[in-house]
Amino acid sequence: MATDTLALVGASCEATGHPSVCGETASGTVQDADNAAAVTLDGDGLATHGDRMHFPSHGHAVSPTGGCTDYQTHDLVPDQSPPITVDGNPVMRVGDSTTDPRSGGTASIVDAGGTNALTHTHG
Ligand SMILES: [Zn+2]
Repeated sequence: MATDTLALVGASCEATGHPSVCGETASGTVQDADNAAAVTLDGDGLATHGDRMHFPSHGHAVSPTGGCTDYQTHDLVPDQSPPITVDGNPVMRVGDSTTDPRSGGTASIVDAGGTNALTHTHG
């Protein structure tokens, strides 16, 4: 048996692998991208795979003068392994991750985004 903590819209996420001068870890939040409280559990909106981990503009390279350059914004959907669905919708959970497309580091969900952790237990 394993228990996963499901992520809500508003959960925090982090992307690593950036130059230290830019802030090695970029912070972001899970945002509603499908314009739907498609799935709720006990009244809280779950982050589904129609939503996105949004990372505001952050640097990915250092210029010859030592400044931070190559700014990009990322909107990412974490990989799911194994998949978890609620009412047929694939949902995000804390610890789900994917690759930062520019830094090559890991972008992952680091908290549930709510005071009441919602868990899903499966065999
Ligand atoms: Zn990045």
